[in-house]
Amino acid sequence: MKDKIKKLAQRYCSQFAMRQWLQAPRFCRDVEIETINRCNGVCEFCPVNRNSDSRPLAQMEDVLLERVLLDLQSHNYAGLLGLQSNNEPLMDSRIAERIALARRLCPKAQLYLYTNGTLLTYERLLSLFEAGLDMLDIDNYSEELQMHPHIRNILGVLEKSPYAHFKTRIKVSIVSPKEIRSNRGGQAPNKQDARFLDHTRYHGMGCLAPFDQLVIRPTGEVSLCCQDALGKHTLGNAKEMTLDEIWYGPMFMAIRRQLMEKGRKSLPLCEHCDITPIRSADARNAILNIMPWRKRINK
Ligand code: SF4
Repeated sequence: MKDKIKKLAQRYCSQFAMRQWLQAPRFCRDVEIETINRCNGVCEFCPVNRNSDSRPLAQMEDVLLERVLLDLQSHNYAGLLGLQSNNEPLMDSRIAERIALARRLCPKAQLYLYTNGTLLTYERLLSLFEAGLDMLDIDNYSEELQMHPHIRNILGVLEKSPYAHFKTRIKVSIVSPKEIRSNRGGQAPNKQDARFLDHTRYHGMGCLAPFDQLVIRPTGEVSLCCQDALGKHTLGNAKEMTLDEIWYGPMFMAIRRQLMEKGRKSLPLCEHCDITPIRSADARNAILNIMPWRKRINK
């Protein structure tokens, strides 16, 4: 019963939020810029772990990164900004320099990085925060669910340093590399077997990711969403187009309409995806927006 109610709520809230967006389209608020398309990890849930990755190596040119950031600056961008997507950002040896550029051009953006921490050093950590990073999420992968000694060491040194205040901007999660997570559009190596059919419950529903998220690969290609790790659906190229041309362009708009009108089953990657159609915060906003007092406030 509880499950049925949850499913109904997800269906109607996501449908409502998608309809609202299409009536009054707005710019993305979650941007991922992948500056290098490589990871050194071996997580079994990831289709681009170093043993499974089939992407040709690509690193973003400075000129393209600057072009994208200047475009975001012209929008006075204040949403989430990760200089990464399906990769390990510290494999980009100039990531701190690039964070500094993002900070300078997009001072209001919420700059974050997710790292597996294997390439992190105390000096690198300081350079990231000094460059203007807001939040560093360290996913410490360990089968034994133990914190790696070198991460413990870095945090210990930081604690006793004059930069101890940076600790509030670090989140460490201890995760097994064998964990079963979202199925990445049906591409997660460890979620292939028939036991995992949770995605079928979402077949008739849409998804809000393409209404919020813009994922730019090192080549400038814009992917459907962060679950499209291999870039199977390209909706434009930031080398040749402005972000507005891509975001409000015919390919992105057609995908959004298709998700709303025909559901995930009509799109090859979405058909297999088990990401929930709407985050609870967005569902709450969708409900609040139909309340009469909210309508009065919005007038
Ligand atoms: S359903 Fe999954 S693959 Fe499709 S847009 Fe949403 S998150 Fe991406």
